[in-house]
Amino acid sequence: MKAYVYLVGAGPGDEELITIKGLRCIQESDVILYDRLVNKNILREARPDAEYIDVGKSPTNHTYTQDEINNLIVKKALEGKVVSRLKGGDPYVFGRGGEEAITLREKGIPFEVIPGITSAIAVPNYGGIPVTHRNVSTSFHVITGHEDPTKETSTVNFEALSKLEGTLIFLMGVGNLEKIVKSLLYYGKSSETPIALVHRGTTSNQKTVTGTLRNIVTLVKEKGITSPSVIVIGEVVKFQNKLNWFEKLPLQGQKILVTRTREQASDLTLRLKALGGEVIEFPTIAIRPPKDRDMVYKRLKKVNRAQYVIFTSVNGVKAFFEAIKHIGMDVRDMGSGKIIAIGPATAKALEDKGLLVDIIPESYVAEGIIESLQGLIKKGDTVFLPRANIARKALAEGLDALGAQVEEVDIYDTVIPEDRQGELADILEQDIDWITFTSSSTVRNFMAMLGSENKKRLKNIKFAAIGPITGTTAKEYGLQLDAQAKSYTIEGLVDVILEARTNEVNTKT
Ligand code: SAH
Repeated sequence: MKAYVYLVGAGPGDEELITIKGLRCIQESDVILYDRLVNKNILREARPDAEYIDVGKSPTNHTYTQDEINNLIVKKALEGKVVSRLKGGDPYVFGRGGEEAITLREKGIPFEVIPGITSAIAVPNYGGIPVTHRNVSTSFHVITGHEDPTKETSTVNFEALSKLEGTLIFLMGVGNLEKIVKSLLYYGKSSETPIALVHRGTTSNQKTVTGTLRNIVTLVKEKGITSPSVIVIGEVVKFQNKLNWFEKLPLQGQKILVTRTREQASDLTLRLKALGGEVIEFPTIAIRPPKDRDMVYKRLKKVNRAQYVIFTSVNGVKAFFEAIKHIGMDVRDMGSGKIIAIGPATAKALEDKGLLVDIIPESYVAEGIIESLQGLIKKGDTVFLPRANIARKALAEGLDALGAQVEEVDIYDTVIPEDRQGELADILEQDIDWITFTSSSTVRNFMAMLGSENKKRLKNIKFAAIGPITGTTAKEYGLQLDAQAKSYTIEGLVDVILEARTNEVNTKT
């Protein structure tokens, strides 16, 4: 094994603002070290068996010193591992990436430094501010706001900065805002110079406040803007109300929990993100191979005798193909039974495997499916039903009632991902706006992971369900639904969340 370290710029917050190269490094790594400002969703891209280390330093409780971080990177690398050290924004913009790289060079450990999108540029952008603009600002200057400008030891030359026409961008400056403003005014900057603070840019918590050097300190206090924020000073701030595209997205400001399996989450996540929502993936279901594998394999060999094979989920399709591959079968051994898929996503998964679907019932709920298969499935027909160990019995019973010979095969098991349980309390601290449920088991498992003593933490959260069965389960747990999909699809789920949010905004204004 080779020791190798990637210092990766992970971008300013929005997890899609990472480079393709950075992503590749993460996927390749045995060990991932990450910072406080790094979006944890990026970790989903890492190998499930990778080691994850949170070296996040909060200003109050220092968990790791810079020396300790350096030592840890070295130690992990010398174990012969590929290490990705993720850093907020760009590693070389006030990220101490240089120090980490020098340590690695001194120890003879090979490394690469992968640039990231710095908050200095991206956060103003998401706040509606271009850092340069033709005829308005011909340069921008990124400055630490961490140094007290009134101290003699300050190495930031405020006299020179005040004379610049370009855009001034301060990072780590909220605590010193008043002193920064005073120093700029002292050296002759006009008190009418526009200034903005963008707090937690590119995330659902983004807040922007604009004003002038004269009134900004008061405005920031009034609006309660705190760290982390980017301070932007200059005429370009005037574009804010025109170019404020991000805060105008319909789900901007909404933090949404996705409870599906890790493998399945991305479709829902991408759709919500495209509308400006911030998504936290918290899988409440993990897929495992069936307990009695030999039994499953034995029964699968008889699939070619069935007149119908019904696939009820994408997971079922995946598990089915893994299992038949294992026993040396492929699509040619499926026989000539008709293929039925519940829902378009399941149909697509089958088609991706080279199996064209014969029937997609209009309804996605067992009772409706039976109704639409009534004239079709005849007494004595064999129906093969690969499904999860916890699937509802309604479909099999309905088929039974039609006189069919039902071959139910528990092709995969679903379990609660216990390794994630501890994270839930932290996640709920973050003011979640929505929790989405895409099946009854996501509801059941979520509530089990939460524990009844924590139910009160769900007080201000809105709930969305993919359909009536999931909705009913949620209600059984005492959850009040704010949105229930009409089409029982991911698309339909996103539609109703959007609709509910739009109504909410309209009634507020
Ligand atoms: N290497 C990072 C900067 C680290 S210094 C980069 O290139 O972005 C930390 C400072 O960055 C914070 O104090 C704040 O000023 C700024 N910052 C980082 N992420 C931010 C965000 N999402 N919103 C606002 N400011 C942010």
